Amino acid sequence: MTALLNFFEKEMRDFGDQRREFLEVRRRAGHFPLATARGAAGDPEREIRIWCSNDYLGMGQAPCVLTALQEAAREYGAGSGGSRNISGTNPIHVLLEAELAELHGKPAALLFSTGFGANDGALSVIAGKAPGAVVYSDEKNHASIIDGIRHSGAEKYVFRHNDMAHLEQLLAAAAPDRPKLIAFESVYSMDGDLAPLADIGELARRYGATTYIDEVHAVGMYGPRGAGIAAQQGIADEFTVVMGTLAKAFGTVGGYIAGPQAIIEAVRAYARPFIFTTSLPPALAAGALAAVRHLKQSSAERESLLRNARLLQRLLDERRIPYRSPMSHIVSIAVGDERLCREISALLLRDHGIYVQAIDAPSVPPGQAILRAAPSATHRIEDVRTFAAALDDIWTELGVARTGDQAPMGEAMANSGGAQ
Ligand SMILES: *Cc1c(COP(=O)(O)O)cnc(C)c1O
Repeated sequence: MTALLNFFEKEMRDFGDQRREFLEVRRRAGHFPLATARGAAGDPEREIRIWCSNDYLGMGQAPCVLTALQEAAREYGAGSGGSRNISGTNPIHVLLEAELAELHGKPAALLFSTGFGANDGALSVIAGKAPGAVVYSDEKNHASIIDGIRHSGAEKYVFRHNDMAHLEQLLAAAAPDRPKLIAFESVYSMDGDLAPLADIGELARRYGATTYIDEVHAVGMYGPRGAGIAAQQGIADEFTVVMGTLAKAFGTVGGYIAGPQAIIEAVRAYARPFIFTTSLPPALAAGALAAVRHLKQSSAERESLLRNARLLQRLLDERRIPYRSPMSHIVSIAVGDERLCREISALLLRDHGIYVQAIDAPSVPPGQAILRAAPSATHRIEDVRTFAAALDDIWTELGVARTGDQAPMGEAMANSGGAQ
């Protein structure tokens, strides 16, 4: 037994009920959000409904996406064969980059194998190359943004979440001639709340800052052609670099940035997660391309998604079940206590065949566990009603706090120490 192995053996024994359990879910193409899963080892497979997938628009099973993917796989095979620099640029990569640049109204775009790699690679270069650059990063930014900024080595200031006065104070404190970069998301991934985009644009202009906007939870879903929240608000031009994923509303995998030619060129030349990894399989790029093209001209999926989100929010309001962001398609149900949250998630699965993962630290701050419910365009109205009724049953069964409750009620609440 080596010292290192010994350390992990002990560490994992002490981990107790913090150990991560992954439910094995079989999504069935054409039937999502229907899937099958086993409750526990040895249980028979049963039908469940998924309420925590980022395949928000069901593009992961859209016929146009599957057809494009299958045709490209037949034509080009499975993998891309290498990194873009060495051996892996396929005509579909080039087409997809042109399509994404056009979607966002930017001169150029660059694909990465994941959204995580896009943020990590792009920010490490954009924040890292200019001497004396300063970065301003929203407190709730995604781990991939944080890592990218860290890898840039730039001086960094974290501003309080969506707090424009704080951002301005930090901007004003730096010498006017220093290169500045503001990095933020349009829709925050855990609470689903929106950034004050117009205000950020205004501050950026006033202080001569470059902007980097992560629209991962908005591309495909907002704006008349699915270009995101900034496009929906008609202010996409105010932001220098937009970053998105092909893995959420576009239903496949991969990440990208779009922006000015010079920045795209520099990232292509220097970003390690671009240079030193195998490029996207052409078939997946073809599937993503079909999804982007489809959602540029079809709004039916966006409309169903928002209909389902608004219905769920109304049903939760009626039942006084607290959730975070009324304007969002992400319905994060506020529970607080980690153990209670996991218990609710387990009961939803066991008694109602509903799968919503409990989310706790490090994705959210300790003591602020949520059930991050993600309606999709493919849920039926009946699915939404069944889900709200199941939550209501469990809230009663466990005595979980409801909006407006005066004092904690029931034992579960007494243990929950901070339900919202
Ligand atoms: C999911 C996510 C990413 C990473 O995207 P992937 O394509 O899943 O790697 C980046 N930013 C935010 C805000 C995310 O939620």
